[in-house]
Amino acid sequence: MPESRKLTPNKRRVVVIGSGFGGLGVAVRLQARGLDVDLVEARDKLGGRAYMYVQDGFKFDGGPTVITAPFMIDDLFRAANRRTNDYLKLVPIDPFYRIEFSDGRSFEYNQDEAETERRVEAFAPGDLDGYRRMIQHARAIFQKGFVELADRPFLKFSDMLRIAPDLLRLQSHKSVYQFASGYIRDPMLRRVFSFHPLLVGGNPFQTTSIYALIHSLERQWGVHYAIGGTGAIVSALGKLFQELGGRIHLSSPASNILVEGGSATGIRTAAGKVFKADAVVSNADVANTYRKLIPPRFRRKYTDNKLRRMRYSMSLFVIYFGTRKQYPEIKHHTIILGERYRELLEDIFLKKKLPDDFSLYLHRPTATDSSMAPEGCDSFYVLVPVPHQQSGIDWKEMAQPFRDKIMRFLDQRYLPGLMDSVVTERLLTPLDFETTLNTYLGSGFSFEPIFRQSAWFRPHNESEDVRNLFFVGAGTHPGAGVPGVLSSAKIAERLVCDRLLN
Ligand SMILES: Cc1cc2nc3c(=O)[nH]c(=O)nc-3n(C[C@H](O)[C@H](O)[C@H](O)COP(=O)(O)OP(=O)(O)OC[C@H]3O[C@@H](n4cnc5c(N)ncnc54)[C@H](O)[C@@H]3O)c2cc1C
Repeated sequence: MPESRKLTPNKRRVVVIGSGFGGLGVAVRLQARGLDVDLVEARDKLGGRAYMYVQDGFKFDGGPTVITAPFMIDDLFRAANRRTNDYLKLVPIDPFYRIEFSDGRSFEYNQDEAETERRVEAFAPGDLDGYRRMIQHARAIFQKGFVELADRPFLKFSDMLRIAPDLLRLQSHKSVYQFASGYIRDPMLRRVFSFHPLLVGGNPFQTTSIYALIHSLERQWGVHYAIGGTGAIVSALGKLFQELGGRIHLSSPASNILVEGGSATGIRTAAGKVFKADAVVSNADVANTYRKLIPPRFRRKYTDNKLRRMRYSMSLFVIYFGTRKQYPEIKHHTIILGERYRELLEDIFLKKKLPDDFSLYLHRPTATDSSMAPEGCDSFYVLVPVPHQQSGIDWKEMAQPFRDKIMRFLDQRYLPGLMDSVVTERLLTPLDFETTLNTYLGSGFSFEPIFRQSAWFRPHNESEDVRNLFFVGAGTHPGAGVPGVLSSAKIAERLVCDRLLN
């Protein structure tokens, strides 16, 4: 993309490192507030995990596909005095998901409360009352955890103390699975109402029940899709940022954050170009921002040792593939759960081993949007949670056999004739998360969202080691997922503007 204008003298300057949703969000917000923003991105296109791959006439969203809380995207356009509809078309998805169980049964749900209740009653007679009570409790968590707290910074321990009574009242010490099991008896429905932490890198058996709010988020605003794919949102934000006068520098990895007198004063790129700035906002992986961009002598809190000891989310193995035929019976979002649940997740999160079995998420955007594939074809991705790089798995060796196993399974169970109808394909392995996406241990979602790594316990939106260095994205508060990282952009906007404009 072209650099759109010259530097304006006397304006306060900010460099944003990385163009994931968090980086794009904060870049738009700061530029709209009158700051002079440079966005440097290591890759050749914007988006980070939401990078769009285009090949052989097919389009594949690299990462996020489930768009919840679309009002947060509207908020971003509104901050720039624009309207989302002039840039993007978001459409609701129904059903939100189809969940397939290993015993051949399935469950679907959508935003229609009465219909979902009917489905619960039909699937597990006797669980309806518990379901209703669970939804009420989840609503209270949602009000506190999302509406009141998600876009507030947690910079001081007193911020945490203030919400402690609420956390206790809402039983945040319980896991999401314990939360669901407190209301639901049917083992499969327990899975349906507890898998959501996996969408943000958490193990449902260990993630605080605060994350039960994700289900409320879906119910409140629905699950959406952007015509043209999530990549269309990324392009729209890039366009908006440039229209506001922001400058984008692609293929420009930052190699250092410049620190003088304890404050960030800019960055240097791997090509040696220096961007001086009054503040730096990093959207790069937080652990690697500290490990790779800031010398140890400036890091009293986030030492290499501390970063090594923290817990990281699982990684992902993703196969993007296009077929020469269509599978109209496959919904937009399908979750295929294997026989094992707790034990499978233990293998991935705790034992860090690659199990023989798996659970999958199958994405078929052509169910909603024919522009994602040539006529008569389907575009898919299938995602498998796998351990991060502490597993020691050699993905250069394992990728092909693992891919074959997944594709054979899909061919036999859900996509007959698949093996003969694939016309284009690419893989994303934990090694790619570690290298191409520059993520410590190749984790898919940065720090695991367990209680002792949430809110004040998560790396703050303002660095605790280097003044005038701020963070947005999955590794800071509130956490991973598009709504989470867009909230972090809102928080960072406030912190940077308070520092530079007052
Ligand atoms: C396969 C997959 C599916 C997902 N599905 C969903 C979903 O359906 N819904 C949902 O809400 N969330 C989903 N998520 C989670 C969500 O995508 C992420 O939490 C979110 O997009 C992360 O955004 P981020 O702001 O942290 O930045 P990232 O997307 O992590 O981007 C960081 C950027 O920083 C750049 N960078 C790194 N180092 C440097 C450097 N030194 N210099 C310059 N640039 C650098 C990287 O190249 C990258 O572009 C999914 C994630 C994955 C991986």
